[in-house]
Amino acid sequence: MEVLNSVQYFDGLQASPQLALLHISEAGFSLQVGPIWNAGAPVLYFPKAECSLQKTDHQLIVFLNKKTGAYFTVDTHDPIAVAIIQLLQPVEKSFATSLFKLNAFSLLLIVLLLFSGVYWGIATVVPWAGLKIIKPETETELGQKMHEAMMGDASVDKRKTALVQSFANSLELSKIYPIKITVVKNQEVNAYAIPGGNIVVYTGILRTMQSPDELAALLGHEAAHITERHSLRSVLRSAATGLMISVIFNDVSGILSILVENAEGLRSMQFSRSMEENADEVGMKVLVKNKIHPLAMKKLMLTLKDNAPEMPTVLSFMSTHPATDDRIKHAESFAIPYKNSSFAANPLRDSIWRELK
Ligand SMILES: [Zn+2]
Repeated sequence: MEVLNSVQYFDGLQASPQLALLHISEAGFSLQVGPIWNAGAPVLYFPKAECSLQKTDHQLIVFLNKKTGAYFTVDTHDPIAVAIIQLLQPVEKSFATSLFKLNAFSLLLIVLLLFSGVYWGIATVVPWAGLKIIKPETETELGQKMHEAMMGDASVDKRKTALVQSFANSLELSKIYPIKITVVKNQEVNAYAIPGGNIVVYTGILRTMQSPDELAALLGHEAAHITERHSLRSVLRSAATGLMISVIFNDVSGILSILVENAEGLRSMQFSRSMEENADEVGMKVLVKNKIHPLAMKKLMLTLKDNAPEMPTVLSFMSTHPATDDRIKHAESFAIPYKNSSFAANPLRDSIWRELK
């Protein structure tokens, strides 16, 4: 490759360009700066490995040296532009050409990979896009609709609902989402969080818990699934394929109706271990903020673990929020820095607790 052309050279010091004679070789660029007729002008050499290319609408800018900031420009229509691009961005072997050389098995593999890629894309991108599109206010509206759809045949304990609601209000669980409690008469040891603010607590789990601090830990943990948007993410993921079209067209009402249809899944929604640990941490911070010892979270886990075997496991809290020994250890170590925080009894919560029992 031997090409000669005159270009605008900027030495990185002066604002105005100098005319330079450019010579392109396989290894890089040589520039003879100064009027091209002046054969005595110095020749500067720049190896291609140190050069980089930037394209604008009408110009190629070739950066020659990062330290000095020297560069030259040429018009994109200039015949030399092609040679510069070839030198700095060599074209890969054409995709189609290499495809012909593959055997049938490799082709099949590629097709399979493409399909699984599409599936992975839907399962990953749709929830991600949904989280961006859905604002907290919309999420609260959506959650309310899901909650109503789920409460259809449930028997609500109004007295306990009011009590646990005032208990939750005293904890200030979220600044963004209005946390709304519903206590359902059901002996299963269960509780779950609906996107946007609703927390459903079964009388079975209230009966099992041993102290007001454990109730605070439970509410802190469930509220964290809402504030950290775990619930929304899980709902979006489980409905991802159906949601794709609505997300692509930014159709919020379409998204909402599909999610309400999928509401039932929330009752037995399983979160990833990292989401559970995250919810434990956020919940423990809520405890500390309310002068409750953060190890109440660990106590709650142990209480529920001890009571788990006698309970139906399908919908129980333990199967959807498994308190693995790892999670207990994680909670223990998270609590260490808070061991000297100040803790105090709370007469309001204590009296609510006595009313509940
Ligand atoms: Zn959980």
